[in-house]
Amino acid sequence: MRSFFIALLVVFFMGCMAPHSDLPVPPFRLSESKNTTPTYQEGIDWWRKLEASTPRVRIFEYGMTDAGYPLHIVVLSGKHHAHLEEYTDSRHSRLLINNAIHPGEPDGVDASMMLAYDLLNSDSIQKRWLPNTDIFIIPFYNIGGALNRNSTTRANQNGPEEYGFRGNAQNLDLNRDFVKSDSRNARTFAQLIQAIDPHLYVETHVSNGADYPYVMTYLSTQEDKIGEPYTSALRDTLTPHLEKAMGKAGFPMVPYVNVHGVSPENGYATFYDMPRYSTGYLALLGIPGYITETHMLKPYEQRVEATYSFLWSCVEEMRLNPLEDWKVSWQVNLGMQDSIALDWTLDSSQVRAWVFNGYAAGYKPSDISGEPRLFYDRTKPYSTKIPYWGWMKPQHKVSRPTAYILRRGFVEVEERLKASGVNMEALESDTTIRVDVFHIDTFSTYPQPYEKHYAHHGTKVSTSEQDVTFHQGDWLIPLNNAHARFIIEVLEPEAPDGYFNWNFFDAVLQQKEWYSPYVFEDEAALLLQQDSVLRNGYNAMMDSVAGFKDHGEQQLYWIYQHSPRYERSHLIHPVYRIR
Ligand SMILES: [Zn+2]
Repeated sequence: MRSFFIALLVVFFMGCMAPHSDLPVPPFRLSESKNTTPTYQEGIDWWRKLEASTPRVRIFEYGMTDAGYPLHIVVLSGKHHAHLEEYTDSRHSRLLINNAIHPGEPDGVDASMMLAYDLLNSDSIQKRWLPNTDIFIIPFYNIGGALNRNSTTRANQNGPEEYGFRGNAQNLDLNRDFVKSDSRNARTFAQLIQAIDPHLYVETHVSNGADYPYVMTYLSTQEDKIGEPYTSALRDTLTPHLEKAMGKAGFPMVPYVNVHGVSPENGYATFYDMPRYSTGYLALLGIPGYITETHMLKPYEQRVEATYSFLWSCVEEMRLNPLEDWKVSWQVNLGMQDSIALDWTLDSSQVRAWVFNGYAAGYKPSDISGEPRLFYDRTKPYSTKIPYWGWMKPQHKVSRPTAYILRRGFVEVEERLKASGVNMEALESDTTIRVDVFHIDTFSTYPQPYEKHYAHHGTKVSTSEQDVTFHQGDWLIPLNNAHARFIIEVLEPEAPDGYFNWNFFDAVLQQKEWYSPYVFEDEAALLLQQDSVLRNGYNAMMDSVAGFKDHGEQQLYWIYQHSPRYERSHLIHPVYRIR
């Protein structure tokens, strides 16, 4: 009897320690060449098998993508909720991993499968993360691109044999689409962020650019831009920890080598993390993140393993740091800020030097053009101290209003604000409110389309304080909440990545009503006679503006523009600021 109990105990003990052999093995581990990645369907099928084999995995179909397929979210958790939103009910730390935003860079697709498998494959490992962490994985974000499979479009990349395409189902680069959200993928992502409110975000990529020995480089949320406590947490804790862990794993890493067409040996600077990118968008909501960039010339196997090590290191960090406290503290800090930065520039006064491992670069005549071309000599590695400019400072600040009012009818803007969880209150009746009115004074428009837009830049506005009558249904948007930075960034017309510059308010740039000169002539003459302010302005124009005196059409139009007939909405931003 006693030996029976001992045998039972041994079986039980072995059950705890032994691998869970019923879990499906990740395709990359089965690949002989280590140079293949699953198709979209193969990938989803594998995740479904994993879900069927363990209660620790749950897959949600959450929202729609442009390709007509739902976005899949895999949840690794000890809890088993019916809705994604319920995972925010506990103090568990939440990590969100996003893969295949650029499906030609599928390293994370494979690495995430391996991560899930290994996290679930032994009880002793589960004990490390399961009690305090929930992990959310998007297996394929750009499904349209993943379906558009080929083996040619990653011109300089060393494997895998087949992969997806960068453009999504409507040929958008989804990693430029977060704040403007032209894709259903981005609007679904915004809703997902509201649903799970992650503490840390990781997005997996493969880098182009200079040649150097590092398999992995990374971009973090720009530390200064996101604000405290993350500024310090990223610089002093998270990033040094991750760098150390990656070094230990055999993949020492450095910040993304942000140089193009020149060698990095003279140093380089941080990247302007605008809200069009995921980390720039999430910074506005107080969520820090990392973009992994494996090096295109390294074999696929090394890249997948490096990405796996990074993800694994992030899971370790989840339990070591007070992520929930940081989140709360960020929101408290935000609540105390009277002014918010709209635009940022490099702070060249701050520089850090560290040892960079590179390959000697040189120039030789191109076989094609004969012109000097850059090349890297892998037989000549070097280690040298280089400067790194990793700090940014605010370039343009605006004072934080109490609220904005958005005129009803700008449906695309309403959709985007709602997707990002912005609180919008419809006015219950027509109301006159003292507001700042934004007058669009100047703007320039790029002559070439960029991600579906002829975007504006260099926008300048002036403001005037006025009593404006708003209609029932116009949207009051208060700023006494954790979305304040996001709201300011998208609704202030001078914000570089704001909705004005992304063309969502272009209709106000065009005059809609007009007049027949032969009819308006008589009214204009009468107005000049009766209105002394108008008359004085008109006379000043006649005296001071060259050519005006000799141009009857201009004179009539000037009077029209300054008369009560002229439409009030022309060049007026349809978002108003309540101080
Ligand atoms: Zn990429």
